[in-house]
Amino acid sequence: MNEKVNNKNIYMMDAHIHISLDGENSKKLRAELKQKKYDSLKKILCRYRENNILMLRDGGDNLGASLVAREIAETLGIIYKAPGWGIYKKGGYGSFLGRPVGDISDFKEIFRKLLKFRPDHLKIVLTGLVDFESYGRVGGIFFTFDELYYMVQSAKEKNLPVMVHANSPEAVRMAVLAGADTVEHGYFITEDELNLMAERGTVWVPTLSPLGNLIKNGDKRYINQIPNIKRIYEEHCNKIRKAASIGVKIAVGSDAGSYGVPHVTGFFDEVMHLQKCGVSQVTSQEI
Ligand SMILES: [Zn+2]
Repeated sequence: MNEKVNNKNIYMMDAHIHISLDGENSKKLRAELKQKKYDSLKKILCRYRENNILMLRDGGDNLGASLVAREIAETLGIIYKAPGWGIYKKGGYGSFLGRPVGDISDFKEIFRKLLKFRPDHLKIVLTGLVDFESYGRVGGIFFTFDELYYMVQSAKEKNLPVMVHANSPEAVRMAVLAGADTVEHGYFITEDELNLMAERGTVWVPTLSPLGNLIKNGDKRYINQIPNIKRIYEEHCNKIRKAASIGVKIAVGSDAGSYGVPHVTGFFDEVMHLQKCGVSQVTSQEI
């Protein structure tokens, strides 16, 4: 006989959110944040608490919102991991996720400033987004291995874990070899990288919801790309199954805040997508 589970006793963690984005059109929220109006952040965090999602890990923004959210979260009993701002390559993808870095000396300067805000981890944007128009194409790799290695090791010297946004086999391999603690997204990953991650203990946060929700909702904005998005999603699912079978650590991170992934429900979407992929037991651990 199955005993009824009391959901009130299950505490959950979303390992990849963006509190500065609202999951739809983030213009209004970002305008408020620019004016240092933080009521919306509190409302979002209260909803996380009501739903027992009591640990959140932020993927960064350029407005300092994750740092403010961490303070509010503390008053609500939520453990909030904030990177302050992410690091992206000057001229590359990621301007709304953090601050631009042209070279190592730029990084040293920005990292020194960042440390004053006591970040919980370092977020590095290594690649662009998945291109929905063409299978396998992503928006480039922006840092060299040496640059990435230097940044990761600088964080390690300060005992900070490192979260690397990486799509494509080459970028994931670079991230793992440079010492990233978690690989975010990892679209188009192959078995070679999965084996390496299992060996090294690198955590994968596959963020299925941004694609999975477009498919689930038959999103009008991407209606022509849906067949390709489905192919990418299904291949990602195959890799997640493979990863689980060889012992890669997988964390539930929805990318809540990104288009089509609302806060709070995004977490449950991610669990649903993982289960749909065949990952039957979903657990999370503090990273
Ligand atoms: Zn993200």
